[in-house]
Amino acid sequence: MRLRTLFVTGFFLAALLPACALAWLNYSPMFDWGVAMNQFASRNIWYIAGMFLVSIFCIILLSSIVLKRAVKPIELAVIELNKNAESQHMAPIDVLQGRGIIREFQELQDTYNLMVRRMMKSSAQLKRLAYVDGVTNLPNREKFQDTLQRVVSDERMLAKGGAVIFVDMDNFKEINDLHGHDIGDQFLQSVAKSLSLSAYRYYESVRTKGDGALNEPVVSRIGGDEFTLLVPGLTDDLALTSFLETLRKSILEPTSELNFLSDFGASIGCARYPNDGTTVQELFKRSDIAMYHAKALGKNRAVIFEPEIGTQSEAELRRDVLLAIENNELFLEYQPKVYARDRTIAGVEALVRWNHPSGKVLAPNDWLPAISNSHVIVKLGNWVLERAMRDHANWVAKGFDLRLSVNIGAKHFIAPEFISKLTELSRKFEFNHSLLEIEVSEDVLFGSGRSAADVLARLRDFGYTVSIDDFGKGYSNLARLADLQVDYIKLDRSLVTRAQKDTRVRSILSASITLANELGCQTIAEGVESIREVDFITHMGADMLQGYYFSKSMPASQVVPWLQMLGENIVHQQQAQLTQAIA
Ligand code: C2E
Ligand code: MG
Ligand code: MG
Repeated sequence: MRLRTLFVTGFFLAALLPACALAWLNYSPMFDWGVAMNQFASRNIWYIAGMFLVSIFCIILLSSIVLKRAVKPIELAVIELNKNAESQHMAPIDVLQGRGIIREFQELQDTYNLMVRRMMKSSAQLKRLAYVDGVTNLPNREKFQDTLQRVVSDERMLAKGGAVIFVDMDNFKEINDLHGHDIGDQFLQSVAKSLSLSAYRYYESVRTKGDGALNEPVVSRIGGDEFTLLVPGLTDDLALTSFLETLRKSILEPTSELNFLSDFGASIGCARYPNDGTTVQELFKRSDIAMYHAKALGKNRAVIFEPEIGTQSEAELRRDVLLAIENNELFLEYQPKVYARDRTIAGVEALVRWNHPSGKVLAPNDWLPAISNSHVIVKLGNWVLERAMRDHANWVAKGFDLRLSVNIGAKHFIAPEFISKLTELSRKFEFNHSLLEIEVSEDVLFGSGRSAADVLARLRDFGYTVSIDDFGKGYSNLARLADLQVDYIKLDRSLVTRAQKDTRVRSILSASITLANELGCQTIAEGVESIREVDFITHMGADMLQGYYFSKSMPASQVVPWLQMLGENIVHQQQAQLTQAIA
Protein backbone atom coordinates (compact mmCIF):
# COMPACT_ATOMS: atom_id res chain seq x y z
CA MET A 1 0.00 0.00 0.00
CA ARG A 2 1.11 3.54 -0.72
CA LEU A 3 1.62 5.99 2.11
CA ARG A 4 -0.60 8.63 0.49
CA THR A 5 -3.47 6.14 0.15
CA LEU A 6 -3.02 5.09 3.77
CA PHE A 7 -3.21 8.66 5.02
CA VAL A 8 -6.11 9.67 2.78
CA THR A 9 -8.07 6.54 3.77
CA GLY A 10 -7.15 7.08 7.40
CA PHE A 11 -8.25 10.70 7.22
CA PHE A 12 -11.62 9.83 5.71
CA LEU A 13 -12.19 6.97 8.10
CA ALA A 14 -11.25 9.18 11.04
CA ALA A 15 -13.81 11.71 9.86
CA LEU A 16 -16.44 9.17 8.82
CA LEU A 17 -16.46 6.99 11.88
CA PRO A 18 -17.20 9.76 14.43
CA ALA A 19 -19.82 11.03 12.01
CA CYS A 20 -21.43 7.60 11.86
CA ALA A 21 -21.22 7.37 15.64
CA LEU A 22 -22.86 10.75 15.83
CA ALA A 23 -25.55 9.69 13.42
CA TRP A 24 -26.17 6.51 15.32
CA LEU A 25 -26.36 8.29 18.68
CA ASN A 26 -28.61 10.87 17.18
CA TYR A 27 -30.75 8.53 15.05
CA SER A 28 -33.94 9.99 13.60
CA PRO A 29 -36.09 8.67 10.74
CA MET A 30 -35.88 12.15 9.17
CA PHE A 31 -32.11 11.99 9.14
CA ASP A 32 -30.20 14.81 7.65
CA TRP A 33 -27.18 16.68 9.00
CA GLY A 34 -28.82 19.95 9.81
CA VAL A 35 -31.68 18.33 11.73
CA ALA A 36 -29.24 15.96 13.44
CA MET A 37 -27.12 18.85 14.73
CA ASN A 38 -30.18 20.55 16.11
CA GLN A 39 -31.38 17.40 17.70
CA PHE A 40 -27.91 16.75 19.04
CA ALA A 41 -27.90 20.16 20.76
CA SER A 42 -30.96 19.13 22.66
CA ARG A 43 -29.39 15.87 23.99
CA ASN A 44 -28.00 15.67 27.52
CA ILE A 45 -24.34 15.60 28.53
CA TRP A 46 -24.07 11.72 28.55
CA TYR A 47 -24.87 11.63 24.87
CA ILE A 48 -22.14 14.12 24.12
CA ALA A 49 -19.59 12.27 26.29
CA GLY A 50 -20.51 8.97 24.61
CA MET A 51 -20.05 10.56 21.22
CA PHE A 52 -16.57 11.83 22.21
CA LEU A 53 -15.53 8.48 23.59
CA VAL A 54 -16.54 6.72 20.40
CA SER A 55 -14.67 9.34 18.34
CA ILE A 56 -11.55 9.03 20.48
CA PHE A 57 -11.73 5.25 20.25
CA CYS A 58 -11.97 5.47 16.46
CA ILE A 59 -9.02 7.85 16.27
CA ILE A 60 -6.88 5.63 18.54
CA LEU A 61 -7.82 2.62 16.46
CA LEU A 62 -6.86 4.34 13.23
CA SER A 63 -3.67 5.81 14.72
CA SER A 64 -2.55 2.38 15.85
CA ILE A 65 -3.12 1.07 12.31
CA VAL A 66 -1.09 3.97 10.88
CA LEU A 67 1.56 3.51 13.59
CA LYS A 68 1.88 -0.17 12.89
CA ARG A 69 2.18 0.33 9.18
CA ALA A 70 4.22 3.53 9.04
CA VAL A 71 6.10 4.24 12.23
CA LYS A 72 7.08 0.74 13.37
CA PRO A 73 9.06 -0.14 10.20
CA ILE A 74 10.80 3.23 10.40
CA GLU A 75 11.78 2.49 14.01
CA LEU A 76 13.19 -0.88 12.95
CA ALA A 77 15.07 0.76 10.10
CA VAL A 78 16.53 3.37 12.48
CA ILE A 79 17.74 0.57 14.79
CA GLU A 80 19.43 -1.18 11.84
CA LEU A 81 21.02 2.04 10.60
CA ASN A 82 22.32 2.81 14.09
CA LYS A 83 23.87 -0.65 14.22
CA ASN A 84 25.56 0.12 10.89
CA ALA A 85 26.84 3.43 12.16
CA GLU A 86 28.18 1.94 15.40
CA SER A 87 29.97 -0.93 13.68
CA GLN A 88 31.42 1.55 11.11
CA HIS A 89 30.62 -1.10 8.60
CA MET A 90 28.05 -0.27 5.97
CA ALA A 91 25.67 -3.05 5.08
CA PRO A 92 22.34 -3.20 3.23
CA ILE A 93 19.22 -3.43 5.43
CA ASP A 94 16.08 -5.52 4.81
CA VAL A 95 13.62 -4.49 7.50
CA LEU A 96 11.37 -2.50 5.15
CA GLN A 97 10.26 -5.45 3.16
CA GLY A 98 7.47 -7.99 2.89
CA ARG A 99 3.69 -7.92 2.93
CA GLY A 100 2.01 -4.91 4.41
CA ILE A 101 5.06 -2.61 4.28
CA ILE A 102 4.33 0.72 2.69
CA ARG A 103 5.73 0.86 -0.81
CA GLU A 104 7.57 4.19 -0.35
CA PHE A 105 9.45 2.66 2.57
CA GLN A 106 10.48 -0.27 0.42
CA GLU A 107 11.64 2.16 -2.27
CA LEU A 108 13.55 4.16 0.33
CA GLN A 109 15.23 0.97 1.53
CA ASP A 110 16.09 -0.08 -2.04
CA THR A 111 17.65 3.31 -2.76
CA TYR A 112 19.61 3.20 0.50
CA ASN A 113 20.82 -0.33 -0.26
CA LEU A 114 21.85 0.66 -3.76
CA MET A 115 23.85 3.56 -2.32
CA VAL A 116 25.46 1.28 0.27
CA ARG A 117 26.44 -1.28 -2.36
CA ARG A 118 28.02 1.43 -4.52
CA MET A 119 29.90 2.83 -1.53
CA MET A 120 31.03 -0.67 -0.53
CA LYS A 121 32.32 -1.20 -4.05
CA SER A 122 34.27 2.06 -4.14
CA SER A 123 35.60 1.56 -0.63
CA ALA A 124 36.78 -1.92 -1.70
CA GLN A 125 38.51 -0.26 -4.65
CA LEU A 126 40.07 2.35 -2.37
CA LYS A 127 41.18 -0.36 0.03
CA ARG A 128 42.72 -2.19 -2.88
CA LEU A 129 44.55 0.95 -3.96
CA ALA A 130 45.75 1.51 -0.41
CA TYR A 131 47.05 -2.04 -0.01
CA VAL A 132 48.05 -3.16 -3.48
CA ASP A 133 50.89 -2.00 -5.66
CA GLY A 134 49.51 -0.81 -8.98
CA VAL A 135 52.39 -1.99 -11.16
CA THR A 136 52.86 -5.54 -9.94
CA ASN A 137 49.54 -6.21 -8.20
CA LEU A 138 51.49 -7.38 -5.17
CA PRO A 139 50.64 -6.23 -1.66
CA ASN A 140 52.34 -2.92 -0.88
CA ARG A 141 54.44 -1.82 2.10
CA GLU A 142 51.40 -1.10 4.34
CA LYS A 143 49.86 -4.51 3.68
CA PHE A 144 53.21 -6.23 4.22
CA GLN A 145 53.81 -4.46 7.52
CA ASP A 146 50.25 -5.24 8.54
CA THR A 147 50.71 -8.96 7.92
CA LEU A 148 54.13 -9.03 9.55
CA GLN A 149 52.64 -7.25 12.54
CA ARG A 150 49.94 -9.93 12.81
CA VAL A 151 52.55 -12.69 12.58
CA VAL A 152 54.87 -11.27 15.24
CA SER A 153 51.94 -10.49 17.52
CA ASP A 154 50.82 -14.12 17.40
CA GLU A 155 52.86 -15.96 20.03
CA ARG A 156 52.58 -19.30 18.26
CA MET A 157 53.64 -17.86 14.88
CA LEU A 158 56.52 -15.91 16.43
CA ALA A 159 57.82 -18.99 18.21
CA LYS A 160 57.60 -20.99 14.99
CA GLY A 161 60.02 -18.48 13.40
CA GLY A 162 60.45 -17.30 9.84
CA ALA A 163 62.35 -15.03 7.50
CA VAL A 164 61.91 -11.42 6.39
CA ILE A 165 63.70 -10.89 3.10
CA PHE A 166 64.61 -7.57 1.47
CA VAL A 167 65.32 -7.62 -2.27
CA ASP A 168 66.78 -4.58 -4.03
CA MET A 169 67.44 -4.63 -7.77
CA ASP A 170 71.01 -3.66 -8.62
CA ASN A 171 70.84 -1.94 -11.97
CA PHE A 172 67.20 -1.10 -12.32
CA LYS A 173 67.88 2.56 -13.05
CA GLU A 174 69.91 1.51 -16.05
CA ILE A 175 67.01 -0.56 -17.41
CA ASN A 176 64.65 2.39 -16.99
CA ASP A 177 67.09 4.84 -18.58
CA LEU A 178 68.10 2.67 -21.49
CA HIS A 179 64.78 1.02 -22.34
CA GLY A 180 62.13 3.38 -20.96
CA HIS A 181 59.63 3.11 -18.14
CA ASP A 182 57.29 0.64 -19.89
CA ILE A 183 60.05 -1.95 -20.13
CA GLY A 184 61.03 -1.00 -16.55
CA ASP A 185 57.48 -1.81 -15.40
CA GLN A 186 57.45 -5.07 -17.34
CA PHE A 187 60.72 -5.99 -15.72
CA LEU A 188 59.30 -5.30 -12.24
CA GLN A 189 56.27 -7.43 -13.09
CA SER A 190 58.56 -10.22 -14.18
CA VAL A 191 60.56 -9.96 -10.94
CA ALA A 192 57.31 -9.96 -8.94
CA LYS A 193 56.25 -13.15 -10.73
CA SER A 194 59.59 -14.87 -10.16
CA LEU A 195 59.64 -14.01 -6.46
CA SER A 196 56.03 -15.10 -5.94
CA LEU A 197 56.62 -18.34 -7.80
CA SER A 198 59.71 -19.20 -5.75
CA ALA A 199 57.92 -18.34 -2.50
CA TYR A 200 54.83 -20.44 -3.30
CA ARG A 201 56.88 -23.37 -4.57
CA TYR A 202 58.68 -23.36 -1.25
CA TYR A 203 55.38 -23.09 0.64
CA GLU A 204 53.86 -25.97 -1.32
CA SER A 205 56.88 -28.14 -0.51
CA VAL A 206 56.59 -27.62 3.25
CA ARG A 207 52.94 -26.90 3.95
CA THR A 208 51.01 -29.23 6.17
CA LYS A 209 47.29 -29.86 6.34
CA GLY A 210 45.41 -27.25 8.31
CA ASP A 211 48.02 -24.49 7.90
CA GLY A 212 46.31 -21.17 8.54
CA ALA A 213 46.52 -18.05 6.36
CA LEU A 214 49.32 -16.61 8.51
CA ASN A 215 51.57 -19.47 7.42
CA GLU A 216 51.42 -18.43 3.78
CA PRO A 217 54.35 -16.47 2.37
CA VAL A 218 53.79 -12.82 1.45
CA VAL A 219 55.62 -11.15 -1.41
CA SER A 220 55.30 -7.40 -1.70
CA ARG A 221 56.72 -4.44 -3.57
CA ILE A 222 57.48 -1.72 -1.07
CA GLY A 223 58.82 0.93 -3.43
CA GLY A 224 60.74 1.59 -6.69
CA ASP A 225 62.85 -1.54 -7.18
CA GLU A 226 62.49 -2.89 -3.65
CA PHE A 227 60.60 -6.05 -2.77
CA THR A 228 60.09 -7.79 0.56
CA LEU A 229 59.13 -11.36 1.38
CA LEU A 230 57.79 -12.86 4.55
CA VAL A 231 58.29 -16.62 4.72
CA PRO A 232 56.88 -18.11 7.93
CA GLY A 233 58.63 -21.27 9.09
CA LEU A 234 61.82 -20.73 7.07
CA THR A 235 64.47 -20.70 9.77
CA ASP A 236 66.84 -23.55 9.01
CA ASP A 237 70.13 -21.99 7.83
CA LEU A 238 70.70 -24.45 5.00
CA ALA A 239 67.14 -24.22 3.70
CA LEU A 240 67.26 -20.43 4.00
CA THR A 241 70.55 -20.11 2.12
CA SER A 242 69.27 -22.32 -0.67
CA PHE A 243 65.96 -20.43 -0.82
CA LEU A 244 67.78 -17.07 -1.07
CA GLU A 245 69.95 -18.43 -3.87
CA THR A 246 66.84 -19.66 -5.70
CA LEU A 247 65.34 -16.19 -5.37
CA ARG A 248 68.47 -14.49 -6.67
CA LYS A 249 68.72 -16.81 -9.66
CA SER A 250 65.03 -16.56 -10.47
CA ILE A 251 65.38 -12.79 -10.85
CA LEU A 252 68.23 -13.23 -13.30
CA GLU A 253 65.92 -15.05 -15.68
CA PRO A 254 63.35 -12.53 -16.87
CA THR A 255 60.49 -13.64 -19.09
CA SER A 256 61.35 -14.45 -22.69
CA GLU A 257 59.96 -11.10 -23.90
CA LEU A 258 62.57 -9.32 -21.80
CA ASN A 259 65.52 -11.52 -22.60
CA PHE A 260 67.29 -8.61 -24.29
CA LEU A 261 67.90 -7.10 -20.86
CA SER A 262 71.28 -7.77 -19.37
CA ASP A 263 73.59 -6.58 -16.62
CA PHE A 264 71.10 -6.70 -13.77
CA GLY A 265 70.94 -8.57 -10.53
CA ALA A 266 69.58 -8.27 -7.05
CA SER A 267 71.08 -7.66 -3.65
CA ILE A 268 69.19 -9.62 -1.02
CA GLY A 269 69.20 -9.23 2.76
CA CYS A 270 67.45 -11.48 5.24
CA ALA A 271 66.58 -11.29 8.94
CA ARG A 272 65.03 -14.14 10.91
CA TYR A 273 62.44 -13.92 13.64
CA PRO A 274 62.52 -14.37 16.56
CA ASN A 275 66.37 -14.53 16.63
CA ASP A 276 67.17 -11.29 14.76
CA GLY A 277 64.13 -9.35 15.90
CA THR A 278 60.61 -9.69 17.22
CA THR A 279 59.08 -6.45 15.98
CA VAL A 280 58.24 -5.18 12.51
CA GLN A 281 60.75 -2.32 12.87
CA GLU A 282 63.63 -4.58 13.99
CA LEU A 283 63.04 -7.10 11.25
CA PHE A 284 62.73 -4.45 8.55
CA LYS A 285 65.86 -2.68 9.70
CA ARG A 286 67.98 -5.82 9.99
CA SER A 287 66.98 -7.23 6.63
CA ASP A 288 67.78 -3.78 5.20
CA ILE A 289 71.21 -3.82 6.90
CA ALA A 290 71.89 -7.28 5.45
CA MET A 291 70.79 -6.11 1.98
CA TYR A 292 73.00 -3.07 2.21
CA HIS A 293 75.88 -5.34 3.22
CA ALA A 294 75.19 -7.48 0.13
CA LYS A 295 75.48 -4.32 -1.99
CA ALA A 296 78.71 -3.26 -0.28
CA LEU A 297 80.18 -6.72 -0.91
CA GLY A 298 79.75 -6.20 -4.65
CA LYS A 299 75.98 -6.58 -5.28
CA ASN A 300 74.05 -9.50 -6.79
CA ARG A 301 74.30 -11.70 -3.72
CA ALA A 302 72.32 -12.64 -0.62
CA VAL A 303 73.38 -11.96 2.95
CA ILE A 304 71.74 -13.24 6.14
CA PHE A 305 71.84 -10.74 9.01
CA GLU A 306 74.54 -11.25 11.63
CA PRO A 307 75.18 -8.72 14.41
CA GLU A 308 78.79 -8.36 13.17
CA ILE A 309 77.78 -6.86 9.81
CA GLY A 310 76.70 -3.64 11.46
CA THR A 311 73.80 -2.01 13.09
CA GLN A 312 73.01 0.78 10.71
CA SER A 313 70.46 0.63 7.95
CA GLU A 314 70.96 2.43 4.68
CA ALA A 315 68.49 5.14 5.70
CA GLU A 316 70.31 5.76 8.97
CA LEU A 317 73.67 5.97 7.21
CA ARG A 318 72.22 8.48 4.76
CA ARG A 319 70.94 10.59 7.65
CA ASP A 320 74.34 10.33 9.39
CA VAL A 321 76.24 11.43 6.27
CA LEU A 322 73.99 14.49 6.02
CA LEU A 323 74.75 15.24 9.67
CA ALA A 324 78.46 14.63 9.04
CA ILE A 325 78.42 17.25 6.27
CA GLU A 326 76.71 19.75 8.57
CA ASN A 327 78.96 18.95 11.55
CA ASN A 328 82.16 19.23 9.50
CA GLU A 329 83.13 15.61 10.09
CA LEU A 330 84.19 15.09 6.48
CA PHE A 331 87.59 16.04 5.13
CA LEU A 332 89.52 15.64 1.90
CA GLU A 333 92.78 13.96 1.15
CA TYR A 334 94.64 14.31 -2.12
CA GLN A 335 96.48 11.65 -4.06
CA PRO A 336 99.00 12.77 -6.69
CA LYS A 337 99.11 11.59 -10.30
CA VAL A 338 102.43 11.72 -12.14
CA TYR A 339 103.37 11.67 -15.82
CA ALA A 340 104.75 8.28 -16.83
CA ARG A 341 107.40 9.84 -19.08
CA ASP A 342 109.26 11.96 -16.49
CA ARG A 343 107.43 11.36 -13.14
CA THR A 344 106.58 15.05 -12.82
CA ILE A 345 103.32 15.99 -11.18
CA ALA A 346 100.24 15.71 -13.38
CA GLY A 347 97.66 16.68 -10.76
CA VAL A 348 95.93 15.54 -7.58
CA GLU A 349 92.68 13.66 -6.98
CA ALA A 350 90.43 14.69 -4.09
CA LEU A 351 89.28 11.70 -2.01
CA VAL A 352 86.77 12.15 0.76
CA ARG A 353 87.19 10.75 4.28
CA TRP A 354 84.86 10.70 7.28
CA ASN A 355 86.11 11.47 10.75
CA HIS A 356 83.43 9.30 12.36
CA PRO A 357 82.20 10.09 15.89
CA SER A 358 83.23 6.51 16.81
CA GLY A 359 86.84 7.68 16.50
CA LYS A 360 87.56 5.80 13.25
CA VAL A 361 88.31 7.44 9.91
CA LEU A 362 85.91 5.82 7.44
CA ALA A 363 86.92 5.32 3.79
CA PRO A 364 84.27 6.21 1.18
CA ASN A 365 83.59 2.60 0.24
CA ASP A 366 82.16 2.05 3.76
CA TRP A 367 79.34 4.53 3.28
CA LEU A 368 79.17 5.83 -0.30
CA PRO A 369 77.03 2.92 -1.56
CA ALA A 370 74.37 3.88 1.02
CA ILE A 371 74.00 7.40 -0.34
CA SER A 372 74.78 6.95 -4.01
CA ASN A 373 71.11 6.54 -5.02
CA SER A 374 69.86 9.42 -2.91
CA HIS A 375 70.05 13.19 -3.05
CA VAL A 376 72.73 13.07 -0.32
CA ILE A 377 75.28 12.27 -3.02
CA VAL A 378 74.55 15.70 -4.57
CA LYS A 379 75.06 17.41 -1.21
CA LEU A 380 78.29 15.52 -0.71
CA GLY A 381 79.52 16.31 -4.23
CA ASN A 382 78.86 20.03 -3.79
CA TRP A 383 80.65 20.00 -0.45
CA VAL A 384 83.67 18.21 -2.02
CA LEU A 385 83.77 20.61 -4.99
CA GLU A 386 83.73 23.65 -2.73
CA ARG A 387 86.32 22.33 -0.29
CA ALA A 388 88.64 21.12 -3.08
CA MET A 389 88.44 24.46 -4.91
CA ARG A 390 89.23 26.31 -1.67
CA ASP A 391 92.29 24.08 -1.02
CA HIS A 392 93.31 24.55 -4.64
CA ALA A 393 93.11 28.34 -4.28
CA ASN A 394 95.60 28.05 -1.36
CA TRP A 395 98.05 26.04 -3.48
CA VAL A 396 97.73 28.51 -6.34
CA ALA A 397 98.48 31.31 -3.90
CA LYS A 398 101.71 29.47 -3.03
CA GLY A 399 102.63 29.17 -6.69
CA PHE A 400 101.41 25.62 -7.45
CA ASP A 401 98.96 25.72 -10.31
CA LEU A 402 97.92 22.05 -10.11
CA ARG A 403 95.32 20.07 -12.01
CA LEU A 404 92.54 18.97 -9.65
CA SER A 405 90.30 15.89 -10.05
CA VAL A 406 87.02 15.45 -8.23
CA ASN A 407 84.89 12.29 -8.20
CA ILE A 408 81.25 12.92 -9.00
CA GLY A 409 78.51 10.35 -8.29
CA ALA A 410 76.11 9.24 -11.03
CA LYS A 411 73.04 10.91 -9.60
CA HIS A 412 74.95 14.16 -9.11
CA PHE A 413 76.42 14.11 -12.62
CA ILE A 414 72.99 14.10 -14.24
CA ALA A 415 71.34 16.36 -11.62
CA PRO A 416 69.90 19.50 -13.29
CA GLU A 417 71.79 21.89 -11.00
CA PHE A 418 75.21 20.23 -11.41
CA ILE A 419 76.74 22.48 -14.06
CA SER A 420 75.28 25.73 -12.71
CA LYS A 421 76.65 24.94 -9.23
CA LEU A 422 80.01 24.07 -10.75
CA THR A 423 80.25 27.39 -12.62
CA GLU A 424 79.06 29.28 -9.54
CA LEU A 425 81.87 27.73 -7.44
CA SER A 426 84.45 28.26 -10.22
CA ARG A 427 83.52 31.95 -10.27
CA LYS A 428 83.69 32.19 -6.47
CA PHE A 429 87.23 30.75 -6.34
CA GLU A 430 88.33 32.22 -9.69
CA PHE A 431 89.06 28.68 -10.74
CA ASN A 432 90.62 28.08 -14.14
CA HIS A 433 88.10 25.64 -15.74
CA SER A 434 90.74 23.76 -17.70
CA LEU A 435 92.39 22.70 -14.40
CA LEU A 436 89.31 20.83 -13.16
CA GLU A 437 88.87 17.19 -14.09
CA ILE A 438 85.54 15.51 -13.31
CA GLU A 439 85.89 11.78 -12.67
CA VAL A 440 82.79 9.68 -13.29
CA SER A 441 82.55 5.92 -13.31
CA GLU A 442 81.97 4.24 -16.63
CA ASP A 443 78.48 3.02 -15.76
CA VAL A 444 77.36 6.66 -15.37
CA LEU A 445 78.33 7.52 -18.88
CA PHE A 446 77.27 4.26 -20.44
CA GLY A 447 74.16 3.70 -18.39
CA SER A 448 72.42 7.06 -18.09
CA GLY A 449 71.43 7.45 -21.71
CA ARG A 450 71.30 10.84 -23.36
CA SER A 451 71.30 12.87 -20.15
CA ALA A 452 74.89 11.87 -19.28
CA ALA A 453 76.10 12.47 -22.84
CA ASP A 454 74.52 15.95 -22.77
CA VAL A 455 76.17 16.83 -19.46
CA LEU A 456 79.48 15.57 -20.81
CA ALA A 457 79.22 17.75 -23.91
CA ARG A 458 78.24 20.84 -21.86
CA LEU A 459 81.10 20.32 -19.40
CA ARG A 460 83.56 20.21 -22.27
CA ASP A 461 81.98 23.32 -23.80
CA PHE A 462 82.67 25.11 -20.52
CA GLY A 463 86.31 24.00 -20.73
CA TYR A 464 86.27 21.37 -17.95
CA THR A 465 87.83 17.98 -18.58
CA VAL A 466 86.19 14.63 -17.90
CA SER A 467 87.66 11.21 -17.19
CA ILE A 468 86.13 7.76 -17.05
CA ASP A 469 87.05 6.29 -13.68
CA ASP A 470 87.63 2.60 -12.94
CA PHE A 471 87.67 1.60 -16.61
CA GLY A 472 87.89 -2.18 -16.88
CA LYS A 473 86.33 -2.84 -13.48
CA GLY A 474 82.87 -3.69 -14.74
CA TYR A 475 81.63 -4.83 -18.10
CA SER A 476 83.65 -2.32 -20.06
CA ASN A 477 82.79 -2.04 -23.67
CA LEU A 478 85.53 -0.71 -25.89
CA ALA A 479 83.11 0.06 -28.72
CA ARG A 480 81.11 2.36 -26.44
CA LEU A 481 84.20 4.50 -25.84
CA ALA A 482 83.90 5.82 -29.38
CA ASP A 483 80.49 7.33 -28.57
CA LEU A 484 81.76 9.45 -25.69
CA GLN A 485 84.11 12.37 -25.94
CA VAL A 486 86.12 12.15 -22.72
CA ASP A 487 89.61 13.49 -22.03
CA TYR A 488 91.04 10.75 -19.82
CA ILE A 489 90.51 7.07 -19.20
CA LYS A 490 91.52 5.80 -15.79
CA LEU A 491 92.50 2.15 -16.07
CA ASP A 492 91.27 0.29 -13.00
CA ARG A 493 93.85 -1.37 -10.76
CA SER A 494 92.24 -4.79 -11.28
CA LEU A 495 92.75 -4.51 -15.06
CA VAL A 496 96.43 -3.63 -14.62
CA THR A 497 97.13 -6.44 -12.14
CA ARG A 498 95.25 -9.06 -14.18
CA ALA A 499 97.04 -7.98 -17.34
CA GLN A 500 100.39 -8.84 -15.74
CA LYS A 501 99.35 -12.47 -15.33
CA ASP A 502 96.95 -13.10 -18.18
CA THR A 503 97.98 -12.51 -21.80
CA ARG A 504 94.36 -12.17 -22.96
CA VAL A 505 93.71 -9.41 -20.42
CA ARG A 506 97.01 -7.84 -21.50
CA SER A 507 95.70 -7.73 -25.08
CA ILE A 508 92.53 -5.99 -23.85
CA LEU A 509 94.60 -3.49 -21.85
CA SER A 510 96.84 -2.81 -24.82
CA ALA A 511 93.84 -2.41 -27.15
CA SER A 512 92.19 -0.04 -24.66
CA ILE A 513 95.27 2.19 -24.50
CA THR A 514 95.68 2.21 -28.29
CA LEU A 515 91.98 2.96 -28.83
CA ALA A 516 92.03 5.71 -26.19
CA ASN A 517 95.01 7.35 -27.85
CA GLU A 518 93.39 7.13 -31.26
CA LEU A 519 90.27 8.77 -29.86
CA GLY A 520 92.42 11.59 -28.49
CA CYS A 521 92.19 10.50 -24.80
CA GLN A 522 95.03 10.09 -22.37
CA THR A 523 95.23 7.08 -20.06
CA ILE A 524 95.95 7.03 -16.33
CA ALA A 525 96.89 3.77 -14.60
CA GLU A 526 95.29 3.57 -11.14
CA GLY A 527 96.61 1.77 -8.07
CA VAL A 528 100.22 1.30 -9.11
CA GLU A 529 101.93 -0.17 -6.05
CA SER A 530 105.37 -1.42 -7.10
CA ILE A 531 108.22 -0.53 -9.43
CA ARG A 532 107.34 -3.67 -11.39
CA GLU A 533 103.85 -2.36 -12.01
CA VAL A 534 105.24 1.07 -12.88
CA ASP A 535 107.55 -0.44 -15.49
CA PHE A 536 104.89 -2.76 -16.85
CA ILE A 537 102.22 -0.14 -17.38
CA THR A 538 104.67 2.51 -18.64
CA HIS A 539 105.81 -0.04 -21.19
CA MET A 540 102.18 -0.70 -22.16
CA GLY A 541 101.85 2.99 -23.01
CA ALA A 542 99.88 4.61 -20.12
CA ASP A 543 100.33 8.38 -20.04
CA MET A 544 99.97 8.93 -16.30
CA LEU A 545 100.34 6.89 -13.12
CA GLN A 546 98.69 7.04 -9.73
CA GLY A 547 99.16 4.74 -6.78
CA TYR A 548 100.80 3.94 -3.47
CA TYR A 549 104.16 3.54 -5.20
CA PHE A 550 104.24 7.31 -5.63
CA SER A 551 102.10 8.35 -2.73
CA LYS A 552 99.03 7.48 -0.71
CA SER A 553 96.42 10.20 -0.30
CA MET A 554 97.51 13.01 2.04
CA PRO A 555 95.89 15.95 3.84
CA ALA A 556 95.67 19.25 1.93
CA SER A 557 98.38 20.77 4.13
CA GLN A 558 100.93 18.16 2.99
CA VAL A 559 100.43 18.65 -0.73
CA VAL A 560 102.79 21.62 -1.13
CA PRO A 561 105.64 20.04 0.93
CA TRP A 562 105.19 16.83 -1.07
CA LEU A 563 105.39 18.74 -4.36
CA GLN A 564 108.54 20.53 -3.18
CA MET A 565 110.09 17.17 -2.27
CA LEU A 566 109.07 15.72 -5.63
CA GLY A 567 110.66 18.70 -7.38
CA GLU A 568 113.92 18.18 -5.49
CA ASN A 569 113.87 14.43 -6.26
CA ILE A 570 113.36 15.11 -9.93
CA VAL A 571 116.23 17.62 -9.98
CA HIS A 572 118.44 15.03 -8.22
CA GLN A 573 117.36 12.31 -10.65
CA GLN A 574 118.04 14.55 -13.63
CA GLN A 575 121.46 15.48 -12.22
CA ALA A 576 122.25 11.79 -11.66
CA GLN A 577 121.16 10.91 -15.21
CA LEU A 578 123.28 13.80 -16.55
CA THR A 579 126.32 12.67 -14.54
CA GLN A 580 125.80 9.10 -15.76
CA ALA A 581 125.56 10.29 -19.38
CA ILE A 582 128.74 12.40 -19.10
CA ALA A 583 130.62 9.53 -17.46
P1 C2E B 1 88.68 6.06 -7.14
O1 C2E B 1 88.18 7.36 -7.58
O2 C2E B 1 89.00 5.05 -8.17
O3 C2E B 1 89.90 6.34 -6.21
C1 C2E B 1 90.99 5.50 -6.10
C2 C2E B 1 90.90 4.67 -4.89
O4 C2E B 1 91.97 3.75 -4.89
C3 C2E B 1 91.09 5.48 -3.60
O5 C2E B 1 90.38 4.79 -2.60
C4 C2E B 1 92.55 5.36 -3.36
O6 C2E B 1 92.91 5.58 -2.00
C5 C2E B 1 92.79 3.95 -3.76
N1 C2E B 1 94.18 3.75 -4.19
C6 C2E B 1 95.04 4.66 -4.71
N2 C2E B 1 96.21 4.09 -4.98
C7 C2E B 1 96.12 2.80 -4.65
C8 C2E B 1 97.05 1.69 -4.72
O7 C2E B 1 98.19 1.80 -5.14
N3 C2E B 1 96.57 0.47 -4.31
C9 C2E B 1 95.32 0.32 -3.85
N4 C2E B 1 94.95 -0.88 -3.45
N5 C2E B 1 94.42 1.34 -3.78
C10 C2E B 1 94.83 2.57 -4.16
P2 C2E B 1 89.38 5.56 -1.67
O8 C2E B 1 89.90 6.88 -1.31
O9 C2E B 1 89.01 4.62 -0.59
O10 C2E B 1 88.16 5.80 -2.64
C11 C2E B 1 87.42 4.77 -3.12
C12 C2E B 1 86.43 5.26 -4.11
O11 C2E B 1 85.48 6.11 -3.49
C13 C2E B 1 87.05 6.15 -5.17
O12 C2E B 1 87.62 5.35 -6.16
C14 C2E B 1 85.84 6.90 -5.68
O13 C2E B 1 85.12 6.14 -6.59
C15 C2E B 1 85.05 7.05 -4.43
N6 C2E B 1 85.28 8.39 -3.89
C16 C2E B 1 86.31 8.86 -3.20
N7 C2E B 1 86.14 10.15 -2.89
C17 C2E B 1 84.98 10.52 -3.45
C18 C2E B 1 84.24 11.73 -3.51
O14 C2E B 1 84.66 12.80 -3.02
N8 C2E B 1 83.04 11.72 -4.16
C19 C2E B 1 82.57 10.59 -4.75
N9 C2E B 1 81.40 10.65 -5.37
N10 C2E B 1 83.24 9.44 -4.73
C20 C2E B 1 84.43 9.41 -4.09
MG1 MG C 1 88.52 8.56 -9.00
MG1 MG D 1 89.24 4.62 -9.78
